[in-house]
Amino acid sequence: MSQKSCNFRGKPVFERMNFLYQASQIMAKIDPVASSFYGNAMINCAKKTVSKIEPDIKRTMCKSCQSPLVAGETARVRLMTKPIKSIKITCLLCKTSKRIVNKKEYKLWLECPESVVKILKDPDPSEKKAKNTNSTQVSKRYD
Ligand SMILES: [Zn+2]
Repeated sequence: MSQKSCNFRGKPVFERMNFLYQASQIMAKIDPVASSFYGNAMINCAKKTVSKIEPDIKRTMCKSCQSPLVAGETARVRLMTKPIKSIKITCLLCKTSKRIVNKKEYKLWLECPESVVKILKDPDPSEKKAKNTNSTQVSKRYD
């Protein structure tokens, strides 16, 4: 384990979800079925551990077949003005569309400062050497 790593609850699951998301993105051009499989596995990891997926990542996945939405390749992107200004993204595999609100004053909850409860910082390696702490004490700090 490297000294720069940060321990928090659910870290192995987030690493697995990161891997599955990247695999899904890579396989999008080569094999759409495998890409959808990796996306579905990522969603199931999040559901199983009751962890949130970042909205920026969630917006690049189809809500029906969980394949990655790449504009011009696996998705069609259109700007809509009525009934509200939005971006309409249509999956070319399953023809499901999703709308993303595109107003100036519209903010996601995660972008609001009230949504931040705690910020985790990487432990400083020099501080760790000076105090000569073991790994269990460091992991307790971030639980
Ligand atoms: Zn789809």
